[in-house]
Amino acid sequence: MLRRKPVLKEKPCFFGQAFFFKEMFRVIKIIDVHCHLTFKEYDTDREQVIADAKQVLNGVVVSGVEPEDAKKALELAALHENFVFVTLGLHPIHVEERTDQEIERYVEFISEHKRRIVGIGEIGLDYHWVRDPLKLKRTKEVFVEFLELAKELNVPAVLHLRGTGSEAIEEGLKIVSDEDVKKAVFHCFTGKPSVAETICEEGYYISLPASIMRSKSMRKVAKRIPLSRLLTETDAPYLSPDEEAPRNVPQNVKVVYEEIARQKKSDVETVNEEIGHNFERLFGVKLS
Ligand SMILES: [Zn+2]
Repeated sequence: MLRRKPVLKEKPCFFGQAFFFKEMFRVIKIIDVHCHLTFKEYDTDREQVIADAKQVLNGVVVSGVEPEDAKKALELAALHENFVFVTLGLHPIHVEERTDQEIERYVEFISEHKRRIVGIGEIGLDYHWVRDPLKLKRTKEVFVEFLELAKELNVPAVLHLRGTGSEAIEEGLKIVSDEDVKKAVFHCFTGKPSVAETICEEGYYISLPASIMRSKSMRKVAKRIPLSRLLTETDAPYLSPDEEAPRNVPQNVKVVYEEIARQKKSDVETVNEEIGHNFERLFGVKLS
C-alpha cells in the first residue's frame, strides 16, 4: 500500500531554520566517551555506523583493549580525525593471555604513539571474569603499570572496574588514589551513589552508559553527583538501551543526556554544554 506523504501545514522559513540549526550546533557537544567501533560487530558496516554517528555527535572515544585492537583504533582515528579519539589500554580480561614481555612492548608502543591518544584505557579490575587470586594479583600489577604510564604521559586513565557489588570499584578507587593519579574516569559506573560521591570528591569523573534507562541506581548517581563530574558513553557494541536492537551504536548516548537532564531537572542543552566542557577539560581535546 502506498503511504501518503505528510503535508506540511506551514512552509518552513529558511532563515528561521538556518538560525535554529546554527543555535543548535552552537550548544550541542554531544559525545560518547567510551565505545569499541573496532570490534567485529561493525565489520560489515563500520563506515556507515560512523557516518550515522557524525550526524548526531561531535566526537567518540574508541578504547583499545589489547595490542591488535589498539592498532585498529589508531587506524580508525586517522581516517576520522577530530571525530574519533583514542585511548589505549589493556582490559583486565586480556591481561592473562599476554606475557610480561608482550606487555612491555605494548607499553612502549603506546608511548611511541602518545601524540595520537587522549588517554590510557581501558584498564582496571574485573572480578566477574578474573577470580583466581594469582591471576588477580598480576591483573593488579599490570593495572598499576598502566596507571604509571598515564601519569608519565599526563593523560587520563579510563577505568574498567567490575565485580560483585562495589568491591572492584572501591578497590580501584583506592589504587588510583594511592598511586596519586590526578585524572581518571570511572567508565560505565555501576557502583553505589555514595561511592560515586567519594570518587567526585577526589576529583575524578563518572561516566554513565545508556543502560541508565534500566538502572535505578545509575539514575540516583546522575541525580546526586555534580554535573561538572559527569560524562556520557555507550560502551557500544555492548549495553544497548534498545532490546530490539542488541548491537549498540554511539548515537544512543543521547538517552543518557536526556536522563541526566531529567534527574537534574535541567534541559538537554545545559547538560550538553556542561558535559562537552567536562570532556574537553579531562581529555584535553577541543571539540570542533
Ligand atoms: Zn569498554
